[in-house]
Amino acid sequence: MINIIDEAKKIQDEIVNWRRNLHQIPEIGLELPRTAAYVAKELDEIGVDYKSNIAGSGILGFIEGVEEGKTILLRADMDALPIEEDTGLPFASTNGNMHACGHDAHTAMLLGATKILNKYKDKIKGNVKILFQPGEEGPGGAKPMIEEGVMDNPKVHAALGLHIGGIFEEVNTGQVGISYGRTMACLDSFNIKIIGHGCHGALPNLGVDPIVISSKVISALQTIVSRELSPTNPAVVTTGILKGGTAYNVIPDFVEIAGTVRAFDQNTREKIASSIESIVEGITKGMHGDYEYDYTFGYPPLVNDDNFTKEFVDTVKKVVNEKDIIELIEPTMGGEDMSYYLQMVPGTFFFLGGLNKEKGMIYPHHNPKFMIDEDVFWKGTALLAQGAIDWLDKQ
Ligand SMILES: [Zn+2]
Ligand SMILES: [Zn+2]
Repeated sequence: MINIIDEAKKIQDEIVNWRRNLHQIPEIGLELPRTAAYVAKELDEIGVDYKSNIAGSGILGFIEGVEEGKTILLRADMDALPIEEDTGLPFASTNGNMHACGHDAHTAMLLGATKILNKYKDKIKGNVKILFQPGEEGPGGAKPMIEEGVMDNPKVHAALGLHIGGIFEEVNTGQVGISYGRTMACLDSFNIKIIGHGCHGALPNLGVDPIVISSKVISALQTIVSRELSPTNPAVVTTGILKGGTAYNVIPDFVEIAGTVRAFDQNTREKIASSIESIVEGITKGMHGDYEYDYTFGYPPLVNDDNFTKEFVDTVKKVVNEKDIIELIEPTMGGEDMSYYLQMVPGTFFFLGGLNKEKGMIYPHHNPKFMIDEDVFWKGTALLAQGAIDWLDKQ
């Protein structure tokens, strides 16, 4: 028998080192040349075959077990955010981008799992695909990687991934958050242009004021969730951008509005998309204006498979004490493009508590002071490696 936990603890320093190296070279979007080159170099060192440059900088490694069997996908995202780091850490980024969501840790923990699984590949029944994905923070790397065939040849039968940090407050340092069914919301966006007719601010009767129209539209949009959807079906409509006007005494020609929608099922998303338009149309037409409208269906809701998740809890029990397994009841309105893989195959996306009050690591994701506790990294590595082995063994 292989003791994955001992193996993961043994390489804890190496995982930390990988993470610190990645932390210093954060890149954003689909093109992550330095990050991908670093991961490729480490995969060469580990001795795993891989394909690179998938959908930009995506990498897919492959470990073929000794016995024939099914194939499980382990996924980590590698991208960072356009945020100026303000942690004061000795390995802080200086290039204007920042790993402020912990994706550097995801990549490092998956490299650790790869190293362990590759070492014991003669004991694995089936195959493991190791996927390093760009663009999770936008514009989305999962969908184009799937379109380039990462789920085929050999066909993937299940998927496992994690997020470190403090997305769920109730998951404390080193604890593991488990969620059944709907776990994260969709991530949609909308753009509205309210078209009026510009004129002198003192003679509003000669024009059509898009600023006044916009003020009605924005407050009416809030009635979609409060008046049109079932109170037991959570959803969010947020206006994040409102742009218009150039001078205090001028009524502008148009105003631009943009926002995001979060929901947990396709019907609700479609209902919201059409309700936004009917509100915009009704108000602008009624006030003699016009509009342009565009709704983008982004990442789908993330839904964990109940059976896979239940079996995965047995894996988690091997790595942490039962009291440190936190079953999450409420989903989060945050989105994640891991959802694309989980739409295709059963699997689970779990949460590793990575903030630590005692160490002053209290800042939320996407904050310039975001920090995570490196001491928990071996657990992420162990959970990915053990999760893959346990699932493959049961097939
Ligand atoms: Zn993030
Ligand atoms: Zn993230």
